[in-house]
Amino acid sequence: MSLKEIGEFGFIDKISRGCLIRPEGVVTAIGDDAAAFHGKAEQLLLVTTDLLVERVHFLRQATSGFNLGYKALAVNFSDIAAMGGNAREAFVSIGIPDDCPLEFLEDLYRGMQHLASEFTVNILGGDTTGSKQDLIINVVVTGMADPSELLLRSGAQVGDIICSTGCLGDSRAGLHLILNTIGIDSPELRALFDAHVLPKPCLQEGRLLAASGCVHAAIDVSDGLSSDLGHIMQASGVGARLVAKQMPISPHLQVFCSRFGFDPIEFALAGGEDYTLLCSVERKQFGRITEEYRKAFDRPLYPIGEITDTGRMELVETDSRLRDITPAGWDHFKRK
Ligand code: ADP
Ligand code: MG
Repeated sequence: MSLKEIGEFGFIDKISRGCLIRPEGVVTAIGDDAAAFHGKAEQLLLVTTDLLVERVHFLRQATSGFNLGYKALAVNFSDIAAMGGNAREAFVSIGIPDDCPLEFLEDLYRGMQHLASEFTVNILGGDTTGSKQDLIINVVVTGMADPSELLLRSGAQVGDIICSTGCLGDSRAGLHLILNTIGIDSPELRALFDAHVLPKPCLQEGRLLAASGCVHAAIDVSDGLSSDLGHIMQASGVGARLVAKQMPISPHLQVFCSRFGFDPIEFALAGGEDYTLLCSVERKQFGRITEEYRKAFDRPLYPIGEITDTGRMELVETDSRLRDITPAGWDHFKRK
């Protein structure tokens, strides 16, 4: 069966199966002119969106539909996580070129539904159109947050401990494997590949941080640590000092870097798409929050530096020397 045979409405009918995961409170899902569902009084509504364009964000030949769908949703969940919210609804619009097989699109929705069910998010609508050449996917995700627990980029205070919820640089290494068509010949390379294509959004982690009451600022690491920390610095009007020795580098990245001759610290600083949360924690509460975090997730919340009043971003190198760093990472319009 092809897209031409089933048509737009046959397609919508097909992909809509399995999209309603949490029916309570939903008045109309996919199939009417607009979705209708109940919100929760006293809760803030969060809305985020991400646009994925073939050849800019992904290569269709280099990805499965499943992985693409999973990631398209995951990056939006990550934004909700960084606000301290719960993800609730998703809306998916796609521009489909003639040469994109129906199987690829069904696989794409399977990937989205897989992640959506993991976090009980409903896919409640979208739009479908043709495209001349490239596959285009736009995802909108809504979420809810308690107004007193909202995490913003602003609010970081001098003396705060800067933390990451996970390892940094793995995704960039995975991308290197894909772009250079390097065969996945070890469990380490597999882990790096997976970190790039199937990033796990830190929604539960974000909720714990938000509820703790002692996280002053947060952002998700999408463009790269130095770039995203730069956003917190700018929004909060502070500086930051990172410590190379404390950088959470996975054993997989160590193996990769020694094999291919890269510096893991550089990967951690400038690699993007880790989708960990970066947060600024009140120093006095740091012990309590790391303990809570370890109890809940059985892994550490990594302290990687502190907020300073210098206005600059600095790195304490492994030999203890201090060097200034300029935010580096992904910027669509400013390429080095
Ligand atoms: P309209 O023309 O009134 O905008 P559509 O025919 O585009 O309606 O859409 C019909 C229903 O299918 C709507 O509920 C819409 O949200 C949903 N829908 C359309 N395309 C998609 C898609 N790619 N993914 C999920 N839902 C979709
Ligand atoms: Mg429409």
